[in-house]
Amino acid sequence: MFEALYIEKTAEGGQRVGLHALSDETLPQGDVTVRVQWSSLNYKDALAVTGRGPVVRAWPMVPGVDAAGIVEQTTSPEFRVGQPVVLNGCGAGELHWGGYAQRLRVPASWLVPLPAGLDAFQAMALGTAGFTAMLCVMALEREGVRPVDGPVLVTGATGGVGSVAVMLLARLGYEVAAVTGRLEEQPYLQSLGAHEVLPRALFEAPLRPLEKARWAGAVDVAGGHVLAAVCAGMRPQGVVTACGLAGGMDFPATVAPFILRGVTLVGIDSVMCPRPLRQTAWQRLAELVDLERLAGLSRSVPLADVPQAAEDLLESRLKGRIVVEIPQMA
Ligand code: NDP
Repeated sequence: MFEALYIEKTAEGGQRVGLHALSDETLPQGDVTVRVQWSSLNYKDALAVTGRGPVVRAWPMVPGVDAAGIVEQTTSPEFRVGQPVVLNGCGAGELHWGGYAQRLRVPASWLVPLPAGLDAFQAMALGTAGFTAMLCVMALEREGVRPVDGPVLVTGATGGVGSVAVMLLARLGYEVAAVTGRLEEQPYLQSLGAHEVLPRALFEAPLRPLEKARWAGAVDVAGGHVLAAVCAGMRPQGVVTACGLAGGMDFPATVAPFILRGVTLVGIDSVMCPRPLRQTAWQRLAELVDLERLAGLSRSVPLADVPQAAEDLLESRLKGRIVVEIPQMA
């Protein structure tokens, strides 16, 4: 038996979430079984656990898009029993039982060996949010944005993706402008390496098709009007990476930044990210992350407290990253 956070549909069409004891026979198909040590709380997990977004697509579900733990059983020669591994995305916690459990079973191709330099807690302090921030930074690099080209904007900067993006970009020598709805968090953002902190309201005001050209690059977690404003303020040949919808799913923009300034908009998807890119991103995270700053932006909650933490995350009452402590089996 193993313990897991479990989401079931109710007869009234809603959902019920609670801790359940489950038997190993109920684990889904997969060639590797992992004893989970830590998981994390992402925006998507919060939507799944609260039922506020259509994240769960198979019922009942064990949520948790991330997990770090130790291989317990494997029929894949790629992994050995006792090996530390990381899982993020790939449909875990959406279509396939995920990381809010003492045990999970997945196809070997979804797992990445825990990179040297990170322990399981640190890997989950990064989690999908940190991994996505890394994908955004790698996309900016791939599209040729260099620190000398000018400042890089990060929206939703106090959140999980935003906090890690600020930290990574600053570490790589970029001048980072952090956009936040919580200006009182300026000292926190500066401690992560932000050079400038801007109020989100600046990006929510009515827009002209082109605004003053300020940014060489951008990491946007907001979508909606904020993303449109970010695009309008890019320098010629600037690059915007769009990964989120914290502010909305729509994109009320004009084509002006793209056809008059040569701006590039790059979409970022962490879930179905190809495996070679997945491995490179984890490797880069292990090399780049300042472990002291990472400790400063993360804190842990017990598995049982995830439903409350999920409400808090969606109400912007949290900052940085939440690591989920999985109770260890005797
Ligand atoms: P968090 O909740 O940790 O951070 C989101 C941040 O967005 C908040 O902290 C807040 O920051 C800001 N925000 C909140 N409401 C609004 C609003 N109405 N308009 C603009 N900004 C707002 O979430 P994550 O960092 O985990 O995820 C951020 C986004 O990225 C989510 O939409 C998530 O779904 C998406 N995502 C996408 C992935 C992908 O593969 N494409 C992977 C991971 C995440 P502040 O108060 O500082 O403004």
